[in-house]
Amino acid sequence: MEFAGIKAIVTGGASGIGAATAALLQDRGADVAVLDLNPDQAPAGVKAVHCDVSDDASVRQAIDEAAQQLGGIDVVVNNAGVGAQGTIEANDDDEWHRVFDINVLGMVRVSRAALPYLRRSSHAAIVNTCSVAATAGLPQRALYSATKGAVLSLTLAMAADHLQEGIRVNCVNPGTADTPWISRLLATAPDPAAERAALEARQPHGRLVSPEEVAAAVVYLASPLSGSTTGVDLAVDGGMQALRLRPR
Ligand code: NAD
Repeated sequence: MEFAGIKAIVTGGASGIGAATAALLQDRGADVAVLDLNPDQAPAGVKAVHCDVSDDASVRQAIDEAAQQLGGIDVVVNNAGVGAQGTIEANDDDEWHRVFDINVLGMVRVSRAALPYLRRSSHAAIVNTCSVAATAGLPQRALYSATKGAVLSLTLAMAADHLQEGIRVNCVNPGTADTPWISRLLATAPDPAAERAALEARQPHGRLVSPEEVAAAVVYLASPLSGSTTGVDLAVDGGMQALRLRPR
């Protein structure tokens, strides 16, 4: 998968799956800009622009700045996202709005601001980071799951809307991936090491998904090699979807 001459932006690219994706795109020859709340933590060598995906003015400014620095945009990886725990009673309206604002509207804002640049590209692709949560019926993840269900629907709708323009839109559905996000969650357990071992044992392939494995799927969907693929959700979950399992 060669990306020479391809210009890519990755939201949430300063950590976890986004950082692995930015690093792999760069390794394959792309010019990469990370858009993140913490641009100083972006992988070495990539361009980094401050961006809050929940703020439309911030997004528009960051997209224009990244496009200027890169000389255009061919690939958008909509990856920035936050978690939420509990049933529908665990979070009030403000929290529901906050998480939807980041996880769903964030992808809308970034894509909307990037579309004028993508229309000028001959290999335009958008890849959204969805989750097994979109369709698994996870307990204690009502708000998070609802946002990822929306990301899945958005991916399909955008794939249809922008097909004739030559802009492909796909998403990846990671299972539980070994990122700082999961480390932060595990750190809240009374015995983080035991909790991690239990979490790994619950995965179909007995371990967490690596951020690099998710990045490889994202990079495939961003590459001209997947030029006839649009509107798909690619599972990177160790077989969870195939086995109709759900992480707990
Ligand atoms: P992470 O917390 O390690 O990284 C998230 C990044 O997003 C951080 O760099 C953070 O600064 C950035 N970010 C958060 N809010 C932002 C905002 N408003 N504007 C700009 N940047 C913002 O998380 P991760 O585990 O790498 O998750 C990345 C994506 O993968 C998320 O969309 C998440 O829902 C999805 N996902 C993660 C897992 C998992 O198990 N880790 C599983 C399925 C899906």
